[in-house]
Amino acid sequence: MQTSSKAEAKVGRAEFRRRKEAVKRLPELIAEAQEAFNAYIRARDLGLPCICCSQPFEPMKPGGSVDAGHFRSRSTAGHLRFNEDNVFAQRKNCNRPGGTTYGAFRQGVVARIGEARVLALETDNRVRKWTHDEVRGIRDEYRQKLKELEASR
Ligand SMILES: [Zn+2]
Repeated sequence: MQTSSKAEAKVGRAEFRRRKEAVKRLPELIAEAQEAFNAYIRARDLGLPCICCSQPFEPMKPGGSVDAGHFRSRSTAGHLRFNEDNVFAQRKNCNRPGGTTYGAFRQGVVARIGEARVLALETDNRVRKWTHDEVRGIRDEYRQKLKELEASR
């Protein structure tokens, strides 16, 4: 019996990955893209304090480790879920419901990116319908951006 060659096995794995990717549903792709985007944000903000309270991160303490916190929440402003001006490294404690106030968060964001860009976020209420391929593109772009950022350090 002829067994398949290594090259054929490799083609088989690539084909398997391609099919697996093709059947992914939008919520799964959005979750993958959010994970990649958030990882990039945490790396981008490395060395900076928490966006809303200016406390340092304390990964060894409960609630002190780093989340990627959305200024305008994903539930009320889903179209800004992948906007770099809207997401910052934030202590886990602060990223919980009731963990911070809009005012405190806003003050931190203004200090980082300026009032004009915050106003642009606050007045952006467009309806955004993501397509599968757009979300794949965002996911792949941020995986790449994270690699480049880490390589540059
Ligand atoms: Zn905070």
